[in-house]
Amino acid sequence: MLLKVQLAKTTHSTKAVNKVVELLERYARQSGNVELNIEPGIGAEGFRIDDGVITGNDENGLLYGAGKFLRDPQWRGTAVPEKPLRAIYFASHFHNFYHDAPIAEVCRYIEELALWGCNTLTVWFDMHHYNGIHDPAAVKMVARLREMLRTAQSVGMWPGLMLLANEGYANSPQELRADWRAGQNGYFAEPGGHYHVEICPNKPGGLEWILQSRAEMLAVLDDVKPGFIVMWPYDQGGCTCAKCTPWGANGFLKVAEPLARLLRQRNPDAKLVLSTWYFDHFVKGEWEGLSRAFAGGKPDWLDYLLADDYGGFPEYPLKHGMPGGLPGVNFPEISMNGMGPWGGFGANPRPAHWQKYWNTAGAQLAGGFPYSEGIFEDLNKVIQLQLNWSSRHNTRDIVREYAAAEFSPAVADEVTQAVFTMEETLDHQLAAGKAREIVEAGGWDKSSDELPAVYWMPKVTKPKRYADALRRADATLPAAVRKAWRWRILFLRALLDEELHRSAGQPTKTSDAYFAELTQIYHADNAEWLVSPVGRKEMTRLVDQLPRSTPTPPVTIPKPSPWRSRFISPWQVSKLQPKTIAGAPAKRLADPLGWQKVTAGEIPPGFVNIHPVAGNADGIIYLANKFRVEKAGRWTLHVGHDGGVRVFVNGRTVLTAPERHNPASPFRSKVALKLGKGTHEIVIALDTTGGNGWGIFVSFEIPPAARKGKARPVFPKRI
Ligand SMILES: [Zn+2]
Repeated sequence: MLLKVQLAKTTHSTKAVNKVVELLERYARQSGNVELNIEPGIGAEGFRIDDGVITGNDENGLLYGAGKFLRDPQWRGTAVPEKPLRAIYFASHFHNFYHDAPIAEVCRYIEELALWGCNTLTVWFDMHHYNGIHDPAAVKMVARLREMLRTAQSVGMWPGLMLLANEGYANSPQELRADWRAGQNGYFAEPGGHYHVEICPNKPGGLEWILQSRAEMLAVLDDVKPGFIVMWPYDQGGCTCAKCTPWGANGFLKVAEPLARLLRQRNPDAKLVLSTWYFDHFVKGEWEGLSRAFAGGKPDWLDYLLADDYGGFPEYPLKHGMPGGLPGVNFPEISMNGMGPWGGFGANPRPAHWQKYWNTAGAQLAGGFPYSEGIFEDLNKVIQLQLNWSSRHNTRDIVREYAAAEFSPAVADEVTQAVFTMEETLDHQLAAGKAREIVEAGGWDKSSDELPAVYWMPKVTKPKRYADALRRADATLPAAVRKAWRWRILFLRALLDEELHRSAGQPTKTSDAYFAELTQIYHADNAEWLVSPVGRKEMTRLVDQLPRSTPTPPVTIPKPSPWRSRFISPWQVSKLQPKTIAGAPAKRLADPLGWQKVTAGEIPPGFVNIHPVAGNADGIIYLANKFRVEKAGRWTLHVGHDGGVRVFVNGRTVLTAPERHNPASPFRSKVALKLGKGTHEIVIALDTTGGNGWGIFVSFEIPPAARKGKARPVFPKRI
């Protein structure tokens, strides 16, 4: 033990204070003496560091002061957190790190997050996996979640729960189940991720079932007393029935209020958060409806409103403020974007992205719950925690502090630069269909000496720059740091970029070894493919889970323009038609092609995916819709597509773009349309190119010349 820690005379050795002593002694790299002191007056959860003394305003402040002292022993001054809620949400599923790593390792990780100022940990008991709270698998999961929450408590965190307002067990009563069908009661898309075991609170007995099952869940966690509860509308969840619609402003509130009161009854100090996740994604009017419901001001059963979206912070609260004037918290997606599988190629730091996000939304927020799928995004977590600590922090300084503390001050600048460059090259995908094909055909050694490329990283062009920088740093680091997982996941990412760029996306012995090391670090031996590293060994193990076709990589959707329509959905989709040498012949809805309705999905939003209809077969799929035009005019028709398309308006060819180009970009092809008053039929022939043509995005735009004198845009209306 290098560092000698003493308590000031007036400071009692409580459990929490002893924990601070333990963490200081465990992590200190410096020798000497330090005294711990608690003295109110600094500001809630704040601290002051003088020569040889760390003073906390309270126990949490003392802990955060210890964290700062461990990271930067030379630092002197006072710091008080700006945002009251600095949380992390652990998603414990898919056999990811939180699900499968030895629990002691997970608990140690929780303690380390506390040192960065994290004061809330939330987890989710995902009911649909289980047949009730006493299902042995449920008991096992509850025990694991309890362990995490208790550890969180031991380091000053509020233990918290995420719950879907109307989620149900796998064996939920059939007669109480919620409706999920779109095309009714204003629902233009099915609620995402619905498991069809959710409960409708408007069916007799439905609300009672929901409250009863939540009371049972809280009873088994009674020793932890969750202090933060976040109630979610969707993903999974929701009910599209006439009585519940629009869910977010109606059925959801019918559940949320009594649920909040029930939670408060069990823990009067609990903070209640209402989530607005995916509002207006499946039905319109949820944001507006919530605003109306809370028009009288902050409801007494709520403390915060959670707002966020995959595409960035939602527009409605930015424009109109939070409904009810409630303080807002966010749910930043720190795990998935830019890499599939998530964390599959190592660390995914995104400091520039989070700076931009913070500049837009930070001032509106009272804190947030970053959504975490594992330890590969450790740096993104620290960025979130520290931005919530002080809006004066910028992400470059946070990365530098992280690099200096976790690695060494001597390499901090060079590592920071490398991290920012690595963010620019993020866009890593596994060509899963190709990998599956190879494994099913007998494996990698059956391929001739020329292995096919299965790694797709279009933005990696000069990986040597940052790989060299990290190699130089690696050579100077102490052995313990070089071997630590935080350094390895960052360094392995650079080494993988370099190796796979050199091999043009083919697997090599070296890349396999890098992936294997990541698997070991994540404890991902049983991980599902979404969260697994992807060397040849892993791909072979995961073969049955790999999608049959190369997935459509995520596409960035541009900001909406007032002169452009939403992406059109749903479409009538034909059965697969044979390809003809002359190109696709014109077809009409009246033709008997086995039409079925296909609705645009959520990822990417607006994309009409026909892959489930066509699979890997080669041929033509037709997509058709009728539109009504009230007043003759000119529009630009945008068609985003991966496989080649031919577009017909009223049976006449208006556009042919035969080349395949993956991924589908939303505005790839366009054509000017002049449409008279009346009904028009638009049919799009899409070439599936053997499973590589996945679908389309379609939207209308008012061409600039036609905008003059128009107060608002009018588009042809789908009928
Ligand atoms: Zn309902």
